[in-house]
Amino acid sequence: MNEIINEGEGHRTHIKSPLMRESLMDRKVLAASDTQAVLPILPDAHVVHIGGASILDRGKAALVPLLDEVVRCRKTHKIILGVGGGARTRHTYHIALDLGIPTGGLAMVAGAVNEQNRFMVQALLAKHGGVVLHKDHYVVLPLWMASGMIPIISGMPPYHYWEPPTGGRRVPHYREDFGLFMVSEVLGAASMIYVKDEDGLYTADPKRDPAAEFIPAITAQELLARNLPELIIDRSVIESMIHARNTRRIQIVNGLKPDLLARALAGEAVGTVITAPKEPKEAADGR
Ligand code: ADP
Ligand code: MG
Repeated sequence: MNEIINEGEGHRTHIKSPLMRESLMDRKVLAASDTQAVLPILPDAHVVHIGGASILDRGKAALVPLLDEVVRCRKTHKIILGVGGGARTRHTYHIALDLGIPTGGLAMVAGAVNEQNRFMVQALLAKHGGVVLHKDHYVVLPLWMASGMIPIISGMPPYHYWEPPTGGRRVPHYREDFGLFMVSEVLGAASMIYVKDEDGLYTADPKRDPAAEFIPAITAQELLARNLPELIIDRSVIESMIHARNTRRIQIVNGLKPDLLARALAGEAVGTVITAPKEPKEAADGR
């Protein structure tokens, strides 16, 4: 039961809690909010993101064998599928930038392409239980998971007009890879797997630099420090991982070799594994 405290006539009424009286801008008050371990909401679900440009835009040849593998894996693993937007999103960004549309406006229109891709993947998976997942449906995920369905979600996070400013870059900073990372983080999912068209992370884009070296494992901290000019997933994922409560390990696998998905779901370190070990100070803070 909440204890009500009145500070006398003309003063505020407080409900007794560690956050009473203080401003939520106060660092000490915020630190005191970190009292409980975070609850994993759906700890046995795996979040699998299918890249827009890297897989979906390749059409049938790349997508169908991968979805066959998803259907096979679904017999033993609960899977939430994410889809990216790919080339059509880039085209949309280009037109919007040319028109002078601000970043929030770009974020507003970009997600529409993901939604088209989501419907196409749903059509392919419908007979195997593929269903479109809107964010309002998160609460029924346990039911869908228990009945063997494959929810398909748009990767684009719904920041829309509220996309934070991006400084010198005009394209939204929080895109599909980040949106799916957040789904995994909030659900406390068993794994976050990105399916792209390369074996994983390299020191540079292997399509452009034949000397690029494969990186099988790296920490998020080390990867940020290396400041590589190009990455295979959104940089915002790496930046956020080091503050995550649940998703401190992500994996990138090659969807053109569909059998790798089953191995990643089984916890094998195929492709590239990026981890974010807690810093000693952070661990002491309980973060
Ligand atoms: P998607 O829309 O599927 O997310 P992206 O083009 O955004 O596709 O990202 C995947 C692509 O990133 C790969 O096809 C690869 O060519 C490229 N890439 C860029 N930098 C790297 C890197 N450092 N290591 C591996 N691949 C990279
Ligand atoms: Mg991408």
